[in-house]
Amino acid sequence: MNYNKKTVKDIDVKGKKVLLRCDFNVPQDKATGAITDGKRIVAALPTIQYLLEQGAAVIACSHLGKPKGEWKQSLSLAPVAARLGELLGKDVIFAKDIVGEDAKAKAAALQPGQIMLLENLRFDIGEEKNHPEFAKALADLAEIYVSDAFGTVHRAHASTAGVAAYLPAVSGFLIGKELEIMGSALANPKRPLVAILGGAKVSSKIGVINNLLDIADTIIVGGGMTYTFIKAMGGSVGTSLLESDWLDYCKEMLAKAKEKGVRFLLPVDTLCAAEFSADAKPELVDTMHIPDGRMGMDIGPKTIEAYTDAVKDAGTVIWNGPMGVFEFPAFAEGTRAVAKALAATSAVTIVGGGDSAAAVSQLGFADQMTHISTGGGASLEFLEGKELPGVACLLDR
Ligand code: AMP
Repeated sequence: MNYNKKTVKDIDVKGKKVLLRCDFNVPQDKATGAITDGKRIVAALPTIQYLLEQGAAVIACSHLGKPKGEWKQSLSLAPVAARLGELLGKDVIFAKDIVGEDAKAKAAALQPGQIMLLENLRFDIGEEKNHPEFAKALADLAEIYVSDAFGTVHRAHASTAGVAAYLPAVSGFLIGKELEIMGSALANPKRPLVAILGGAKVSSKIGVINNLLDIADTIIVGGGMTYTFIKAMGGSVGTSLLESDWLDYCKEMLAKAKEKGVRFLLPVDTLCAAEFSADAKPELVDTMHIPDGRMGMDIGPKTIEAYTDAVKDAGTVIWNGPMGVFEFPAFAEGTRAVAKALAATSAVTIVGGGDSAAAVSQLGFADQMTHISTGGGASLEFLEGKELPGVACLLDR
């Protein structure tokens, strides 16, 4: 996979109509529809402002929620247009449709330095199905395509990939940064490369473990996926999360680590509990011998020490997935300690999206990481080394 892609800086946008795919999939209040967190809109500003300053006419577009091809007023992007206008301090022209008469007329009249927003892309079934007619109709509105919605690059939708068949395609600053930092961490990492993998299940991380075993120097495992590995090694796991169908896979991965000379660290001690609850009393046990009726909930202090030590002299650390049930304060220490260790190291530190990003923010370490990926599913597929349609479609540098 080539991550070296052209960005808005590599293309002349002056006087051009630019179709900009943003991620305006913002959380909304169920009752009122009000935007409850505008972070994604704020994150889109640098690319938008750059394009406007360069004299482009910007036709922004995004999906919101899952309307599945149906027109749903509650999922209209109109409130996003209003918020974007406030943030930019300028009028954001809103089209009442996507590629219909209103959008076409407004796009045709749009002047350099002006911005408009199309209605929710997923109101048209052609978006998620990547219908060529829909992609072509989107492309017909503009002369250049700029992709900046990293959260959807793993999907081959009309606005994330299909449209690139008809227009010169480059990334905005958000995707540009993801590619630069995560791309070089995978393709040309500063070594040693340490990958920390946690979260609930082995089954959701199989591709990541397999790919990183080819690249990393050390792999550190925590979270619920620990216990399938422990069982595969002959340990007893009590009532811990266990995916019996993946025991052979875990054995294979342990053998692969040995064969490749990758250091593979599993927790040596575990905080367990009699039940999955915030009030459960933590009990410290040896991870290989979790008693009957007890479930592993977090890594223990000896493990924290070993993991902290392993990232100290790393060149690059990639982290995806919490070390324990961090939502319960009594079982958040392992995740907090790993976040702290990442904050303290001079390594390039990359946090995969989704739960690990939420954990790092919740625990107050967000601004001490080199990069927190904005895509959950997208960053997982990135770490799996998969070809991402929304990246592959961009022009190579
Ligand atoms: P993922 O989405 O796969 O990254 O998983 C994140 C979830 O894994 C979080 O909600 C954690 O509470 C959960 N988790 C982490 N460790 C454990 C564990 N030992 N047992 C059960 N769930 C866990």
